[in-house]
Amino acid sequence: ERIHLLLRHRAAIDELTAVFNRRAFNQIAEAELARADRSHIWPALLVLDLDHFKSVNDRFGHAMGDQVLQSVASSLPEDGDALALRMGGEEFMLVLRGKGAAQRAERVRQAITARVARDIAGLDRPITASMGLVEIPAEVMPEATFAAIYARADGLLYQAKSAGRNRMASERMTAFARRPLGKRGTAGA
Ligand code: GH3
Ligand code: MG
Ligand code: MG
Repeated sequence: ERIHLLLRHRAAIDELTAVFNRRAFNQIAEAELARADRSHIWPALLVLDLDHFKSVNDRFGHAMGDQVLQSVASSLPEDGDALALRMGGEEFMLVLRGKGAAQRAERVRQAITARVARDIAGLDRPITASMGLVEIPAEVMPEATFAAIYARADGLLYQAKSAGRNRMASERMTAFARRPLGKRGTAGA
């Protein structure tokens, strides 16, 4: 797809991890909504933050922290059904298309810990992640904005952290504030 070719441009790629960066977020959001309109495959949004990552830097140095980030990024699925971004620091986002997002997200969480354990020698504890996942049912998708979905996913991530980390909090969104008229095709009301 054209938008994806455009996004492959260097400016859209995180230098450390080679996944999309935050700058690509708005373009990806628009492309995903347009794709969902056409395909009726609704994306789920997963926000993911490494647990106690500061202690990796503190104990083993920034270079080791960078290696962990690279390992985490390479454990993230990137294929026709999943797209990964690094939003900044040790926070990543996944756009998951199609069914079974919660199960796939849970597998991602476990894969991160396993991948880092395999890639990086000398850490003193397993690297874990907390996650917030928002699934979007078809009936509310026409009113969805990625900004609203992201804000909700971020709230769920915060809940996962508060509940003890190394876990996922998820929900299916049931309502959105209406989008501004004309933002996307014709408004239904
Ligand atoms: P929490 O479980 O609450 O998320 O704790 P945390 O330590 O992961 O979170 P906090 O926000 O306190 O620390 C994030 C750390 O991530 C601080 C910063 O030094 C580190 N960090 C951010 N970007 C990079 C990077 O590009 N490389 C390295 N090595 N560290 C980074
Ligand atoms: Mg963190
Ligand atoms: Mg963070």
